[in-house]
Amino acid sequence: MVQPISKPNETLAVKVRVLGCSGAIAKECKTTSFLIDGQILVDAGTGVGDLTLEEMCGIGHVLLSHSHLDHIAALPLMVDSVAAMRREPLRVYALPGTITALKTHIFNNVIWPDFTRIPTPQAPFITFHEISIGQTFQLFDKYVEVLPAVHTVPAVGYAITAGTGCWVYSGDTERNPAFWRRINQLNVAMLVIETAFSNREKDLARRSLHLSPTVLASELDCIAPNKKYPICITHTKPAETELIMAEIQRFDQTQPFGPNVVHDIRRMFAGQEYEI
Ligand SMILES: [Zn+2]
Ligand SMILES: [Zn+2]
Repeated sequence: MVQPISKPNETLAVKVRVLGCSGAIAKECKTTSFLIDGQILVDAGTGVGDLTLEEMCGIGHVLLSHSHLDHIAALPLMVDSVAAMRREPLRVYALPGTITALKTHIFNNVIWPDFTRIPTPQAPFITFHEISIGQTFQLFDKYVEVLPAVHTVPAVGYAITAGTGCWVYSGDTERNPAFWRRINQLNVAMLVIETAFSNREKDLARRSLHLSPTVLASELDCIAPNKKYPICITHTKPAETELIMAEIQRFDQTQPFGPNVVHDIRRMFAGQEYEI
């Protein structure tokens, strides 16, 4: 069971390593995965493949945003790589719908072995743990809050706090008023938000419940006026990344900041590391 929350220690920090922040694969484009303090994986996209065996072995917890392949592709493969080297099962946290999808379509002994029963049902390589939106729980010295997301399958975002500020990840989402209502109450140190498609593909973005730059602009208008924090763009399609960032720059400024800057919007790259 997940642990209840206690008061955060104000001297602690969240160390975030970007393993993948692309909406699809190509050379040097890895799909969504963030490593927190070397121990917690947020989504398990293809970026996980850049970790050494030792680094992979050090991960004990995986927080999944949803069941789509670009967010879970490396999970079955990494279990196979390190399970026999680990003493404890890999703990995977996800919504019930996400867990059902993974059990039905991935760990089904057809696509991949059912590692929830291997090597034995009593001591498996992987265990699933249900989460719910609004829930807060503790992993090591981190506090994890499950945030709502609006997507084509059950989906969440996360806020992870160690000291006073939190690292917030939107997950895959379209317009999401409940998300903004909640994060306006938090002390956000960094927001990672998806913008999967360019304005040219705005209809596709709408149908697939992703953001495009114009919709992102209206979403960022939901940030409370007294709140200011870096906003990192993730999940851009590789073929459209330059266009998406140019379209975002048109409604705002990327670095260097101009005199009328409203938001501090940044591009993300795999390999970047942040300390929140
Ligand atoms: Zn998705
Ligand atoms: Zn995705």
